[in-house]
Order: sequence, then C-alpha cells, then structure tokens
Amino acid sequence: MSKCIHCQKIYKNATSFRKHYLICDILHNKDEEQMSLKDLTTIVKQLVKDNKDKTKRIKYLESKLNNTKNINLIEYLNENINNIKSFNSFVQCIELNKEEIKLIINNGFTNGIIKLFMKIISKCDEDELPLKAFNERNYLIIYDGKIWSKMSIEDFNMYIFDIQRKMMNYRDTMAEEDGDFGSDECLKIGEIIYGGVNRDNKIKMIYQSIYSRIKIKGRYFVNNQYKII
Ligand SMILES: [Zn+2]
Repeated sequence: MSKCIHCQKIYKNATSFRKHYLICDILHNKDEEQMSLKDLTTIVKQLVKDNKDKTKRIKYLESKLNNTKNINLIEYLNENINNIKSFNSFVQCIELNKEEIKLIINNGFTNGIIKLFMKIISKCDEDELPLKAFNERNYLIIYDGKIWSKMSIEDFNMYIFDIQRKMMNYRDTMAEEDGDFGSDECLKIGEIIYGGVNRDNKIKMIYQSIYSRIKIKGRYFVNNQYKII
C-alpha cells in the first residue's frame, strides 16, 4: 500500500499510485523544475483517459437527470405552483374590446379564438399563467385554483362558450348603443357567436393549436425550477 504524501490518498495498486503521484506531485510542487518527456507523456495520457471517463460519466448522469418520463409533471406542478389565479378567473378576466372583436371577425371562429388566446397568453407573465403544456404530454394542463389537472376537450369547450357569451354581450351593448341590430359588424359577430357547423372539430383544432403553441420541454421546465437565483 502506498500513501500520497501530498493528499494522503491511499493506493493498493502500485501503477495507480504512480500515475496519481505524478500528477499530484506537479499540482503540489511549487518550484518549476523541468519534467522529462516520459513523465509528460504519462501525464498527458492519464489526463486524456480521465477526461474520456469523466465525459462518459457526465453523459450518463445527464441522461438520468433529463429523464422526465419518471417525473410526474402534474404532480410537480401541484407541489410547486399553487399561488396563482385559476384558469376560470383567467378566462373571466378576458376583456373583449373593439380590437379583440376585430381580431376574431377577421380570422373567423377557429383562428380568431386561437389568436385571441395567444394574445392574452403573451401578455401574461409565464409564472402566473394557469395553463401549461409539455412536449412529454399531449394535452393542456390547467390550474383550477386548487389543483393542476389535464384539461379535457369538453372542459375547454365550456371556456369557449364563456368567450362566445362575452361576444354576445359585446354585440348587444354595441347594438343597443347604435340602435341597430342589423349592422354588418353585428351580423358578423353573430355568425361567430354561433360558431357554425362542426363545432366539435373546431374546438379540437383550437385546443391542439394552443397546445402546440405553448408547449415546452418538461425537463427544461423542471430543471429551471431548480436553478438558484
Ligand atoms: Zn496525491
């Protein structure tokens, strides 16, 4: 058994000890004496080998760390994000003004509602948004004020109804003010309020589109949360 006089590490194997000592001695040696080419070669070989081993090990550890298949993202959200407003109040807070109505009329029901949602989402602080989507899960996840859970298409449909109701209110207020229920704008809003045929497909398309636009890598999301600021 050999003990390194610099770092007190103990080696059973003489070759291992020699390799360690060569490098440890340089690290601890204050005077700049010339090394032999033989020593240098041994050191470089050892460093290259160490580096290869470490790179392998880091890759292995990273793959372990990045494996979010084992992380329950909904559970993670429930444990870590629970002091924001609910998705329901988020939708209730959506204000429809002239600009938003124009956006919906110009783009039609499906794209109009997608654009409306994306506009509101882009204004909201990411940490405060009660809606999440991850690459690893192919659905939207919402916060109801108490828990995060998967949002079904049926649930989503109810929120779209809320928006359509808001449009109805906007139209009625506008028509009453103008005293004209037959204006172009009124009729156009009317078409969208009723959603037209194939509502189920349209709702699915809106759902999918919002999912695709806001989805992020779950593993990045979780790793970022561990960053110490
Ligand atoms: Zn040592």
